[in-house]
Amino acid sequence: MNEKSGIFLSVVIPVYQSASSLEALIRRLGSVLQGISAQVELILVDDGSSDGSWDLIQKAADTDARIRGLRLSRNFGQHHAIAAGLDASVGEWTVVMDADLQDLPEEIPHLLSKAQHGYEVVLGRRMHRKDVWHKTLLSTLFYRVFRYMSGFSQDPAVGNFGIYHRKVIGELVQMRESIRYFPALVHWLGFRQGTFDVQHGHSVTGKSNYGFRSRVHLGVNAVLSFSDKPLRLTVKLGFVIALMGFIFALVTLFRYFSGSIAIQGYASLIVSIWMLSGLILMTLGVVGLYVGRIFDGVKNRPLYVVAQRT
Ligand code: UDP
Ligand code: MG
Repeated sequence: MNEKSGIFLSVVIPVYQSASSLEALIRRLGSVLQGISAQVELILVDDGSSDGSWDLIQKAADTDARIRGLRLSRNFGQHHAIAAGLDASVGEWTVVMDADLQDLPEEIPHLLSKAQHGYEVVLGRRMHRKDVWHKTLLSTLFYRVFRYMSGFSQDPAVGNFGIYHRKVIGELVQMRESIRYFPALVHWLGFRQGTFDVQHGHSVTGKSNYGFRSRVHLGVNAVLSFSDKPLRLTVKLGFVIALMGFIFALVTLFRYFSGSIAIQGYASLIVSIWMLSGLILMTLGVVGLYVGRIFDGVKNRPLYVVAQRT
């Protein structure tokens, strides 16, 4: 029990276009939570849905005192919605899960009991991921690149679903960086982290809210904000090319003085111009991406804007 708030368990759920799963989610959570404690709170963060999710949240909050709703002023993205929910949560333990019933409410007691055996974080490992093949493929690719770039090897079976002790949440809410990738923030914090094998459901809302592009965008952002390796690779690449250029210059000078240069060389010239220009543009682009992140960071805007609370 959190002495100050009296709340034992908070459940934080980002909600986006999930009207079709909300009722079942709330009903199932309701009975699961009843079995755990009376001191629970359910925080539903509507991330700018346009499908009536907010009406359902309001209705649920009216009939059930355990439920609180926040409506963000627009769509800020899942990880920002999670931040909003964590800021509002007060429980000694906090669960973060998806709204589309892919994370099963019935697993919460298992996460909790494992956590109570000496962990501050217990993450759900989705044993049999029920996602379409191209999503699993893309996420496997992302985890590979991410591990290479940031040195943080995330188990592909682990997502956001997990339970976190107040100590962890207290630190998480201090991390106000604008580019957020929740699992990596949790990993960075450390503490005693365990995993628990959970079932994974099919998405009730049918299709994912992330298209291919936003998934790639999320991945690129995660890499850029947790790693400076692309910059270091750029430096290495530049070094290798400069070395090649130096050798080439020596060879050319030697040939010049030995008189073996006939007037030729259009091909080599044009090829090196195009190749080097491409490389320069690419490396500039990488630098630009980081400058963009810095720009985002120094603006120091709030992570989200709340339009309405129940
Ligand atoms: N979500 C959100 N804002 C968004 C997109 C998603 O709050 O812009 C929430 C969504 O309601 C769900 C969770 O994030 O609770 C995961 O979304 P989704 O199921 O679409 O993603 P997937 O399971 O395909 O990764
Ligand atoms: Mg989903």
